[in-house]
Amino acid sequence: MKLAILGGGESGIGSAVLAHSLNYHVFLSDGGNLKPEYKEKLIALNIPFEEGGHSEDLILGVDLVVKSPGIPDDAPLIAKLLKNNVAVISEIEFGYRHTKSKIIAITGSNGKTTTTSLTYHILKEAGLNVALGGNIGKSFAALVAEGVYDYFVLEISSFQLDGIINFNTEIAILLNITPDHLDRYQYNFENYVRSKFRIALNQNPEGLFIYSADDHAISSHIDDFKIKARKSAVKHPLVENGVFSVGDFKCPVNDISIKGPHNEINAACAVLAALELGIDDVKIKSALKSFKNFPHRLEFVRAIDGVTFINDSKATNVDASYYGLSSMDQPTIWIVGGTDKGNDYSPLLDLVREKVKAIVCLGIDNEKIIKFFEGHVDLIVETQSAANAVKTAFSIATSGDTVLLSPACASFDLFKNYENRGELFKEAVNELSNKIEN
Ligand code: ADP
Repeated sequence: MKLAILGGGESGIGSAVLAHSLNYHVFLSDGGNLKPEYKEKLIALNIPFEEGGHSEDLILGVDLVVKSPGIPDDAPLIAKLLKNNVAVISEIEFGYRHTKSKIIAITGSNGKTTTTSLTYHILKEAGLNVALGGNIGKSFAALVAEGVYDYFVLEISSFQLDGIINFNTEIAILLNITPDHLDRYQYNFENYVRSKFRIALNQNPEGLFIYSADDHAISSHIDDFKIKARKSAVKHPLVENGVFSVGDFKCPVNDISIKGPHNEINAACAVLAALELGIDDVKIKSALKSFKNFPHRLEFVRAIDGVTFINDSKATNVDASYYGLSSMDQPTIWIVGGTDKGNDYSPLLDLVREKVKAIVCLGIDNEKIIKFFEGHVDLIVETQSAANAVKTAFSIATSGDTVLLSPACASFDLFKNYENRGELFKEAVNELSNKIEN
């Protein structure tokens, strides 16, 4: 079997390692440059590769192509392969074909990483032999190549779902579908919706499909797809009188480490998955309490003179910031802005009127934000560095307020990425605290 892998990122290298372990004739081709550590891995395993372009003749002669999720379906080489009847699949399809272990797959526009890592944490704490991967950490194919796990908990993006044929999971979770990445879907939201529902496409009647029924796009489209799996809907209210409940499972909401209405949905989905696998309530409760989320997602930084600082730099779209703001229970100074992705801020207006005391813009071009919120908040200030935004927000705040960085925008105008933006924010908060103490 001759196999070509297009794209040498995390998923491409994982596929190469898996293909090599299966004795395929494998060739990896990357249009750009490979990271040195990836190159070393290929050399160590004696896997042939090229960078800086694709040798079409060679690639068109293979039996199967595994394509990186970063390469769009309408790329000229992909069109040629399809014309030549060469099957093109994604890395998760390739991984799936070579494992018999159980898969729990999670997708959505927002909340994937939180829900995936929480589900993993519950399973791991319950003593299952489980791996975490997919769109975070190690690729699925690389984990399959390790060959030792009984369960895989996978974060899956829509691009990965586009390239599946038979990929099937015991448990699939669909969190929400809000406009994102539309440039890859002919600017047609319906295409993006279809792509997300592919997570349940091949499930058997024994499988379980967990979804948020509060999400409009999901609930209005669920009957359009012939889903064979058992369905389990998650819906607010999930908390009454301080008690969080999902079916018969109950625990005090304060005993769940992640906060806010969106995290109640995420936690409910993870709990349903754990219950399906037979994990008992006591173990689930203990794991919900001990879970530590990845940074930059409503991350508590510290309090200075009664002012709480929260880093939600991963909120790179309006929907994520909606939930960030919804989670605030104190008067809020909201740090917002960056590279606008065609944002419509109207879903935030009521929340801003209710909770936001002042807006601190953090971006190069803040005009759209200023125009939209002018007259709805008492104060709007512009800044162009994390340090300035923190100082300005602190000067406005009084004891009992929260300063929330939840930008609703991408970070590329002033920062390398959302992680860099969050790190600089945290640094600025810590420096301010040191200055005040000294
Ligand atoms: P993803 O991996 O899908 O980007 P993350 O868990 O990293 O999701 O969270 C990204 C952002 O979305 C964070 O700002 C977080 O507060 C927000 N978020 C998390 N869960 C949800 C949800 N269920 N609905 C809407 N927003 C969410």
